[in-house]
Amino acid sequence: MIIVITGLPGAGKTTTIEAVMKEIGDKIQVISFGTEMMKIVQKYGVNHRDEIRKKLTPAQIEEAQIEVAKYIDKIAKETKKLILVDTHASIKTEFGYLPGIPDSVIYNMKISGFVYITTKYEEIIKRREKDVTRYRDEEDKVEISLHNEMNLAVLSACAIKTGAPVKIIVNRDGQLEKSVNELKNYLLRWLE
Ligand code: AMP
Ligand code: MG
Repeated sequence: MIIVITGLPGAGKTTTIEAVMKEIGDKIQVISFGTEMMKIVQKYGVNHRDEIRKKLTPAQIEEAQIEVAKYIDKIAKETKKLILVDTHASIKTEFGYLPGIPDSVIYNMKISGFVYITTKYEEIIKRREKDVTRYRDEEDKVEISLHNEMNLAVLSACAIKTGAPVKIIVNRDGQLEKSVNELKNYLLRWLE
């Protein structure tokens, strides 16, 4: 079974997932879509994960997305574990917002549910400033709000196409434990 988890950069997706894995990691396999993308796009001279959306054309990205989707679907069919795919609903490129889950991904990977992790814009801005390991875009509230709306638009299209529900988790500052419990209980429900 595949659950796709998304969220704006800085929403706390990876942090929440890592904490959930400490508790129920025996039942879940996390696959980072970005990490799998990196393996494929190295041939284009992409050396850092934040370069994918800056150096590649939409066609190059989609070709890699399809390859990753097929790979993930194959793993999901071979395992009893729940596959949690850490990815993005939309990616900000110089060409515009690109869907992280286009039709071609949906048709190659059977998704049961979508999760969206979000929080207040101020908190996202602060978290991005703190993360020195990444080349995150410097965005203000308006830009973050627009990206958030695009993400929700993509997820609503995905829900309509797949029939899969969209679970939204608000990861407020100082309440990581609450988000972790929410995600954990949600995933355990799928495993019942
Ligand atoms: P992350 O570490 O999750 O932010 O992912 C790193 C990078 O991988 C992102 O900035 C995107 O460029 C790329 N990536 C992740 N998921 C997708 C996707 N579904 N489609 C295209 N690119 C993706
Ligand atoms: Mg992340």
